[in-house]
Amino acid sequence: MYPEPMLRLIEELAKFPGIGRKTAERLAFYVLKTPAAEAMKLAYAIRDLKKKTRNCSLCNNLTEAELCRICADSKRDTSLLCVVEQPRDLIAIEKLERYRGRYHVLLGNLALLEGIEAKDLAIAGLIARLRRSASAEHEQDRIREVILATNPNLDGDATALYLAEELKDQGVKITHLARGLPSGGSIEAANRANLFEAFARRTAL
Ligand SMILES: [Zn+2]
Repeated sequence: MYPEPMLRLIEELAKFPGIGRKTAERLAFYVLKTPAAEAMKLAYAIRDLKKKTRNCSLCNNLTEAELCRICADSKRDTSLLCVVEQPRDLIAIEKLERYRGRYHVLLGNLALLEGIEAKDLAIAGLIARLRRSASAEHEQDRIREVILATNPNLDGDATALYLAEELKDQGVKITHLARGLPSGGSIEAANRANLFEAFARRTAL
């Protein structure tokens, strides 16, 4: 029905989450009628994203440099470490413009049914950070509180419980976002006021 290059684009677009075959066809027609220079911007943006974006060597946040903007910022509060599942959760919390500590991104959550286990998450790096912090020379360089900000759903809760157990001997206070975010949802999808509340009323585990 379609010329081969058109078909290829439709098939690639249809792989995106939330994009069905119909929408992929519509997008492909849009690209077809867009001037070449304009359409190539999309191709270059994808190429640059894959080439230039990586995970921060300390916290796994997205970055173009070795360290992300937050890890490189000496004004951030070293005593607070917020653990999230994905970089997009970190972005949702940053948008609140309230939290001034640092982060650790797990790059996933425990999902035993899907075969995702603790070893698949960036937990070793988290424990290493806590150990380094515990032996920091200056008191102000030490992490005092780890905030578990996993998503408010079954897998997120399982991940938080696992981490609370793993980290209990690291000599830091462990807290969890307060209940109140819509259950089964995500930090990313939570509204600003709810997320703000969950942060402000976080509880010790
Ligand atoms: Zn970082």
